[in-house]
Amino acid sequence: MAVPFLKEIRLGAYLVKQKLLGRERYPLVLMLEPLFRCNLACAGCGKIDYPDAILNRRMSVQECLDAVDECGAPMVAIPGGEPLIHREIGEIVKGIVARKKFVSLCTNALLLEKKLHLFEPSPYLFFSVHLDGLKEHHDKSVCQEGVFDRAVSAIKAAQAKGFAVNVNATIFDGHAPEEIAKFLDFANELGVAVSISPGYAYERAPDQEHFLHRRKTKELFRRVFAFGKGKKWNLVHSGLFLDFLAGNQEFHCTPWGMPTRNIFGWQKPCYLLGEGYAKTFRELMETTDWDAYGTGRYEKCANCMAHCGYEPTAAHMAATNPLKALWVMVRGVRTDGPMAPEIALDGQRPAQYVFSDQVEKKLSEIRAAEARERMAKTDTSAA
Ligand code: SF4
Ligand code: SF4
Repeated sequence: MAVPFLKEIRLGAYLVKQKLLGRERYPLVLMLEPLFRCNLACAGCGKIDYPDAILNRRMSVQECLDAVDECGAPMVAIPGGEPLIHREIGEIVKGIVARKKFVSLCTNALLLEKKLHLFEPSPYLFFSVHLDGLKEHHDKSVCQEGVFDRAVSAIKAAQAKGFAVNVNATIFDGHAPEEIAKFLDFANELGVAVSISPGYAYERAPDQEHFLHRRKTKELFRRVFAFGKGKKWNLVHSGLFLDFLAGNQEFHCTPWGMPTRNIFGWQKPCYLLGEGYAKTFRELMETTDWDAYGTGRYEKCANCMAHCGYEPTAAHMAATNPLKALWVMVRGVRTDGPMAPEIALDGQRPAQYVFSDQVEKKLSEIRAAEARERMAKTDTSAA
């Protein structure tokens, strides 16, 4: 298991360095979204509801690698959209691996077998295949039959060629804990580690009825983890994050821990919420009003327990309070007894709805750039 070991050592060293440097805010994982186009339309997805002019945009290889250099995080996750649709995804991944950064390529796996030849196995690269549960559940979640079987086949094909593969599962309301436990057993049989997270209530997701509230999330994960006692599920998360999911830690999110770069720019404040964009990573870190976000501060954050907001909190906690992390590791996730106090919501500011304005602004930029290109072509042919 060379990949996780090397990754843990490198990430641990990076965290210690940030602590020694006295940095208050620092990135752990760059979320790089080189496109929003996808070949699925999942009911809980809040990432693909854009007009074609935006779905057709791609970040160039250079833009992606500049973002990696600018951010400096030791790990890069590439979600989307579906990154395997990007024609230059092989070059993007190659460039990041060459920088000795860990790359997690998130994919629904529909194109994975066909595109495996674009990649080379490396201790720095792993595929993170979207699987929300067992066959019936997953196919329903992605709104298309047969996707589970194709994803499992692609996972096996990638493993056979020597690639490291994880799966990432998003959990929604109505998913029975027994079924989630069976899914985690299945992942063990398949030989893949699992990243698991409650879904964030995206305002643009078609299905708004199945997002979990905080209390329900904690109760659900307690029941799931109770099924896991004595089993060796391979979850990629820290013990503190799992303990948080089970309601035993009162964490505030760390949105700067997983900064997001996409075709709009550097997204404020986090991967889940797009409330504005900065031109540079530095501008993102220096101009975002971080105190305006998080559970208890902002209505759109009220129920968020997603791993991209709280895994960095757990990592930061482990670096500043290793004894606490060690205690949770030794004790295991507690699945009964009182829960940690919940954050009060009575002081949160109301939600702001800025999506349409942002899309309009981007469309104007695209139209202006296309007009400039047309003018340049006309000038060239006239000359
Ligand atoms: S959740 Fe992932 S696979 Fe599903 S539509 Fe969104 S980007 Fe595509
Ligand atoms: S709680 Fe934090 S991580 Fe979650 S949406 Fe709000 S700012 Fe983002």
